[in-house]
Amino acid sequence: MAVPGPGSSARRGHERAVLGLLRAHGPLNRGELGRRCGLSRTTLHEALSGLLAAGAVVTAAPDDGPRGRGRPAGKLALNTAVGQAVGIDFARRAVHVAAVDVTYEVLGTAGEAHAPGLPWPDRVALAERLVRRVVGGEPWLRALRGVGVGLVGPVAGAAAVAGVESLLRDRFGGPVLLDNNTRLAALAESTWGAAAGAQDVLYLRLSYGVGGGVVAGGALHRGADGVSGEIGHIPVDPEGRRCECGGTGCLETVASIRAVLDAYRARGGRGDSLPALMAAVEAGDPLALGLLRDVGVQIGRVLAALSNAIGPRVIAIGGELAEIGAPLLGPVQEALHAGAVPISRHRLTLRRAALGDVAGALGGVALAMGESPLLSRYAAAEPETGPAGSRAGRYGAVAAGRRLALTG
Ligand SMILES: [Zn+2]
Repeated sequence: MAVPGPGSSARRGHERAVLGLLRAHGPLNRGELGRRCGLSRTTLHEALSGLLAAGAVVTAAPDDGPRGRGRPAGKLALNTAVGQAVGIDFARRAVHVAAVDVTYEVLGTAGEAHAPGLPWPDRVALAERLVRRVVGGEPWLRALRGVGVGLVGPVAGAAAVAGVESLLRDRFGGPVLLDNNTRLAALAESTWGAAAGAQDVLYLRLSYGVGGGVVAGGALHRGADGVSGEIGHIPVDPEGRRCECGGTGCLETVASIRAVLDAYRARGGRGDSLPALMAAVEAGDPLALGLLRDVGVQIGRVLAALSNAIGPRVIAIGGELAEIGAPLLGPVQEALHAGAVPISRHRLTLRRAALGDVAGALGGVALAMGESPLLSRYAAAEPETGPAGSRAGRYGAVAAGRRLALTG
């Protein structure tokens, strides 16, 4: 959850409105800003004081820039040398980060694998190293609007949450928003990735864990206790293996990387890693292909059941296992087609996710920026309190240039 100081939420909304205007129109003087944002003189003064003190906005001097193109004194401009938001994805065996400056340019992304079960202080320290690698140093972090953080599992009530939040606040200063990392990946894919523009989306990630996220009616769905998207814990085999969650035969015990590799060996296959399995697939190994067909059918049946409940237009599948492509996704598509109600069968699109392993971190950025229309009814997001401008922005496409431009 956001942890801004008392009363700061409205002011952050005002600051966001001012930043949005400067993004949209370029440098403006105070009078122009006042007319466009509709804030009172005092409120605008407060918002600008905060932004100037943080370094997010600078006064453009008359002799700035090349000769003859100087801006009149008193114009205010965005300071591209400072940051806007950081996203961090604490996956099971890796940390990924993304950082965005005040103009919404993605400064960069980074990630590093680690051993499973790495203690939290070490994971946070790794995240900080990665963020600093991307952003350079301390000055960039000074004006940070927020840090959006993805964690494994339902975040509400998780014991690690409070500790992680305070560790991150100590290191980055700005408000820290925590959420489920796979739901954040769904947010990013629905904002900039494979499902950009779709109002109803089902996202599934096949990694060391299996999870997902739902966008319904143009809004990210959180669900009671933040449980929405726990697709990996839908039972698919009553005779199956015990699951980490305490259940039996969950989809995760069939379709996680570990589960697929275990099943491959149990059928007599040789290979203890995903690259080895992929090489076997490339070589046309019937054991590998048969296993992926069986796994794909299980996944497709679950997706069909979910589709009949939720009615997505786009289903996006991400995670390392999805990289296998057709040998897995073909059977998924067939089982989905067989199980989906006739009216949606031909309109429903199954796509590979587009943002790769940085999707969760980019979703963290979107959460920290708090301006995605997909978050307008999302409980975990910071309330929108700003007047003109705070809701006006809409995300543009990002996949190619990774620029999170607001238009409008
Ligand atoms: Zn489970």
